[in-house]
Parts: sequence; structure tokens; C-alpha cells
Amino acid sequence: MQKFSAFSLARQALGRHLGWTPQWRSVAPKPSYDAIIVGGGGHGLGTAYYLAKQHGLRNIAVVEKGWLAGGNTARNTTIIRSNYLFEQSSSYYEHALKLWETLSEELNYNVMFSQRGCLMIAHTVHDVQVFKRHVYANRLNGIDNEWMTPEEAKAFCPPLNISPNIRYPVLGASLQRRAGTARHDAVAWGFARAASDMGVDIIENCEVTGIDRDAAGNVTGVQTTRGPIRSKKVGVSAAGHSSVVLGMAGIRLPLQVNPLQALVSEPVKPAFPCVVMSNTIHAYISQSDKGEMVIGAGTDSYVSYTQRGGMHVPAHTLEAICELVPDFRRLRMLRSWGGITDNTPDRSPITAKTSVPGLYVNCGWGTGGFKATPGAANLFAWTIARDEPHPINAPFTIERFRDGALIDEAAAAAVAH
Ligand SMILES: Cc1cc2nc3c(=O)[nH]c(=O)nc-3n(C[C@H](O)[C@H](O)[C@H](O)COP(=O)(O)OP(=O)(O)OC[C@H]3O[C@@H](n4cnc5c(N)ncnc54)[C@H](O)[C@@H]3O)c2cc1C
Repeated sequence: MQKFSAFSLARQALGRHLGWTPQWRSVAPKPSYDAIIVGGGGHGLGTAYYLAKQHGLRNIAVVEKGWLAGGNTARNTTIIRSNYLFEQSSSYYEHALKLWETLSEELNYNVMFSQRGCLMIAHTVHDVQVFKRHVYANRLNGIDNEWMTPEEAKAFCPPLNISPNIRYPVLGASLQRRAGTARHDAVAWGFARAASDMGVDIIENCEVTGIDRDAAGNVTGVQTTRGPIRSKKVGVSAAGHSSVVLGMAGIRLPLQVNPLQALVSEPVKPAFPCVVMSNTIHAYISQSDKGEMVIGAGTDSYVSYTQRGGMHVPAHTLEAICELVPDFRRLRMLRSWGGITDNTPDRSPITAKTSVPGLYVNCGWGTGGFKATPGAANLFAWTIARDEPHPINAPFTIERFRDGALIDEAAAAAVAH
């Protein structure tokens, strides 16, 4: 594999950049693999990477129905943080955050992880109580989070309007300094490149249409639009389509699929130094390295598999943002889009074995799974390789919705980003 270094960049620059080779191999499916991962988003590609890197499996296929990382991975607003309320969640997200901190070196690929801090704005007395509870719970679990007065929040993020006379006044904020953003495509490309280099086959334009099982019910492979592929282990990381794929094996998942929209402004000079989230107005903002303001809205309330949503949702978000950050009134919005989010009733994910031997699922990340990408991939690979969960993902089963051991981040976090 080509290594990226100052030396290789200089050498390629002198050769007019004609010497770069493709970053991953384009292959046709083989008849059989040791493991098949359904879904070529960040989670699926990362799972294949860790299976090869840490568990010694090399005969692996990632099967993607469209193009690599064209799903939510390419559509999200890339907020990364670990300040979730419950111990189970914060352990999971912190595991991911620690992997983010060294991911560029690990993959020899600049994923542009930027720990610029994430401010979560409190607008009501209830917000203040909830966020302070988060701060205390996070600190008890060894995760950085701190409370800020409105003046301290403004000093950290000068464009904020902290006037008490606006519809959503800033009553304070919690700040996780180690939180931030990363470049979504780079994460997928970095995992794909490193996995491909270890022999993983990445097969695009190949939709899984069925799951094969033997008479005892064990998984024996998948049917795809490019023919059948045999394997005794199939891991599904299909985000909004997870219920559709698991339904092929007769498993019903407790998922509701909603569109989630985002939009970007025209690019401007650096003006917004951190990530700002407001659960009350369902808005989150950061400035990309290109200069665009990246803005996320709340989920559309109806169930849909379309990658777009109603205009009133981003319109509401923009109205509230313009009050919170008045400078934004002069910005023109360039484009908007939507993704398909897979939401569980408790807004926590499922990373687990299923009742079908050889079939595993990593889904339910809803509106907030980008931040988990390396952590979820790492733990899902463990679960597939050992046929048992890692202690960190052990609580994140499908059975919790039957047994009642819910990890309710919905009530605590409102917007689970
Ligand atoms: C607008 C928006 C904003 C978001 N903002 C954030 C954020 O700020 N922070 C955060 O942490 N998270 C955020 N998220 C959520 C995050 O994007 C997702 O949770 C995460 O990217 C999921 O990654 P994935 O690899 O599981 O899914 P995806 O990237 O969606 O990959 C799943 C893949 O499976 C493929 N697939 C589906 N069915 C089949 C089949 N039958 N056969 C083969 N392939 C199939 C799909 O084509 C897709 O490429 C946001 C999401 C959206 C839509």
C-alpha cells in the first residue's frame, strides 16, 4: 500500500500526481468468505478492518448496495463526543473517542479529527438541570465535561447571542473540550484503504437480497444482485435498512426509520470556533475546513426511507439559529440533503449477536452513530470474531427491548447526537 508521508507527497507533486494508485482494490465477489459484512459505510468498513487487523481473519467481504459510504456516513454533520448520560453509553462512546484520537496515525490517513470542543446550550431551567446532571455523571465516569455560565460560553464561542431577551435565551452550557468533528469521507476511505490492503474485498453495487440458512437455522451465506456468496458469519451494518436485511432472516428489529436533514452555507473565513448544539431548537452547528457552516436539523417526524425531508424542519432550525447566532442572518445556504436514520425506542444502539447463529447486527445508531464509528466497528468485529460481545457492548442487545433493561438516552439527551 502507498504510504502517505511528507516525502511521498513531495515525490508525487514532482511527478504531477500521476503516480498515485487506487486506494482500494475493485473486485468481483468470490464464491465464499470467512465473514461477510453487509453495508459499506464507516461502521461496516471499520468492522472489516478490525476483523483483519485484530482477529486474524483475512478472507472478508464488505458488500455495499450503492457506492462506498454513500449512506449516512457521507451525509452526517460529523459531531463527535462521548458525554452521554448513562455509564453503559459513555463507556461505549468514550471507547470510540479514544480510538478517534489516534485514528489518523493508525490508518496512515488524515481523518481530520479536530477536537475543538462541543458546547451544548441550555435554554430552560429543565435544560440546566439535565446538563448539570450530565456533567456530574460524566465526571464520575472519568469523562471530561464542564458547566459554563452564559458569559463563559460566549467567551468560548464569541458569535453566540447571550441576550436574555430572545426566544431561546442562553442560560448556560456544558462543554466537552475533547469533543469535535472529523472528515466523514476520509474515515470511510481510510478504513477501506487499510482493510483492502490486508486482503478485504470491498464490493460495491452489490445489494444483499436474501440470507441463506441451513436446516438447523445457521447462516450459510447471502443472496446478492451479483450472485450468491457463502459464509458462516454475516454481520449487518446497514443503518436505516437494517430491519429490511434482518427481516430476510425472519428477525424483527425494534427500529423506526426517519429522515434527518442537514444543510451547509456558503463558505466564509473562520468565524465559528467550536461545535454548538441546542437540543431545544434541534440545531447543531460547526464550521468545516472549507469554511461552510454545517448545520443539522431535527428528525422529520414521519417514517420514510427517502434521503430528503420536509422543508419546514430546516426552516425552523434556521429561524432559531439566526436568533442564537445573529451573524448567520447574512449567510446564504448552499445545499441541503437528508439521510435515513435507524432509531430504537431508547435511542441507544444494538451491537450484538442475533437469535440466528452466525448472524450479527450493529444498528440503531439513529441520529448519532458517526461519533461511534471506530468504537462500534472495533466492538462489532470482536463480537463477530468471538461469537460473544465485548463487555462494553454486552448491554446493547436486541433482547433489552423484551427484558426492559433499556439504556434511555432519549429522555436524557433529547437529540442523541
Ligand atoms: C443529516 C444527518 C446528520 C447526522 N449527524 C451526526 C452527527 O453529527 N454525529 C453523529 O455521531 N452522527 C450523526 N448522524 C448519524 C450517522 O450519520 C450514522 O449513525 C452513521 O453514519 C451510521 O454509519 P453506518 O456505517 O452504520 O451507516 P451508513 O453509512 O448509512 O452505511 C450503511 C450502508 O448499508 C448499505 N446497505 C443498506 N442495505 C443494503 C443491502 N441490502 N445490501 C448491501 N448494502 C446495503 C447502504 O447503502 C449504506 O451505504 C447523522 C445522520 C444524518 C442523516
